[in-house]
Amino acid sequence: MRLSRYFLPVTKETPADAQIVSHKLMLRAGLIRQTAAGIYAWLPLGFRVLKNIEQIVREEQDKAGAVELLMPTVQSADLWRQSGRYDAYGPEMLRFTDRHEREMLYGPTNEEMITAIFRDAARSYRDLPRTLYHIQWKFRDEVRPRFGIMRGREFLMKDAYSFDLDEAGLKASYEAMFVAYLRTFARLGLQAVPVRAPTGPIGGNLSHEFHVLAETGESALFYDAALEDVTHEELLSADASTIARLTELYAMEAEEHEKVAECPVPAERLRTRRGIEVGHIFAFGTKYSASMGLSVQTKDGGSVEPHMGSYGIGVSRLLGAIIEASHDESGIVWPEGVAPFRVGLINMRVDDPACASTCDSLYAQLEQAGVETLYDDRDERGGAKFATMDLIGLPWQLIVGPKGVERGVVELKNRRTGERQELSAEAALARLTLG
Ligand code: ATP
Ligand code: MG
Repeated sequence: MRLSRYFLPVTKETPADAQIVSHKLMLRAGLIRQTAAGIYAWLPLGFRVLKNIEQIVREEQDKAGAVELLMPTVQSADLWRQSGRYDAYGPEMLRFTDRHEREMLYGPTNEEMITAIFRDAARSYRDLPRTLYHIQWKFRDEVRPRFGIMRGREFLMKDAYSFDLDEAGLKASYEAMFVAYLRTFARLGLQAVPVRAPTGPIGGNLSHEFHVLAETGESALFYDAALEDVTHEELLSADASTIARLTELYAMEAEEHEKVAECPVPAERLRTRRGIEVGHIFAFGTKYSASMGLSVQTKDGGSVEPHMGSYGIGVSRLLGAIIEASHDESGIVWPEGVAPFRVGLINMRVDDPACASTCDSLYAQLEQAGVETLYDDRDERGGAKFATMDLIGLPWQLIVGPKGVERGVVELKNRRTGERQELSAEAALARLTLG
């Protein structure tokens, strides 16, 4: 992509209304633009990152055996009356009526809808187990939308729903999602701590939240320091034994921690940090199947209400969490894998023919090799170009100046380490195309 043709409205000024670094950087780097309280447009660069995160989430859901579908954002109130949640949900639900005076709502979540869809199709034990998911916009009329997309009113969520014959099946589905979550967050370059979450009055339920540690997080956490020793590799190859090990370690939100009579973690190993909730998994059993009349035939001709779970990931919130975890004083530092482009190619002197032709040729070859490249071909000062590239945080910068071109070299800069290296254009290409 040529920057001269792109839409990248970066700003030098720190926006006055942004309180946390991720929100400031997202506005400054031209990733998002607020269009109403808690509602944002995703500008081209931000949209690319959002798609990359969505894709990693999707791949891990698919690997876990979940099946993707897409449910609408607008739902009917009648659906929610079947579960009894229409009145219970409260003012966070955005409600409206259509031209025929039918009551509608913008979905804050999809338990009712998926239960109805499954109910109308599933007949017998052969239709179980199944886990279905979608990645779709949600609306919650939050009292205090804040921190940009971190707590927005409209936000993108991955929500999965599992259907099992019995509690043992539900536990297996829950664990498959748990593993998928550990891998997803590890692939996104994040360390996410699984925290035991309260499950409400119904016994036998199981729930965990996943928190990215960050000073700006909205949740206060208490946990066993051993949770910090889990390695990236271990999370990437997580399995049932990883879950067993992790869930044995103490981790609670402050509110729940205070209710614990005796903390099982010795004081020297008890950490208290803040976290951003990026995911939440919940095994709730037959709550919706029972209230909405979902049952299937068993092998012996009887009938059973499927045991269900729901599993959310805040896809748009993850963007903020990644920036909170990965930035420096010059701007964002995208982990490979979510970066909007892999390489930023900087032409230091667009009016120098040798410089321009070296850049054009590098750009063509990078594109041909499938290396996503943002080519700064604008007529701008070098300093401004460097500042923009640092701000938007692409993993690699390839800097081409007239003096270097004369000597047959270009410069390759690693955004994370700041390390710079002079090498021939061919060697730089080889480095960047090798992965
Ligand atoms: P929170 O406690 O942050 O309000 P929640 O418990 O209401 O979250 P869930 O209903 O479990 O959230 O939704 C699943 C995921 O969706 C959350 O873990 C979070 O990552 C994300 N999410 C929830 N509310 C928002 C929001 N207002 N803006 C952005 N992401 C959100
Ligand atoms: Mg909430």
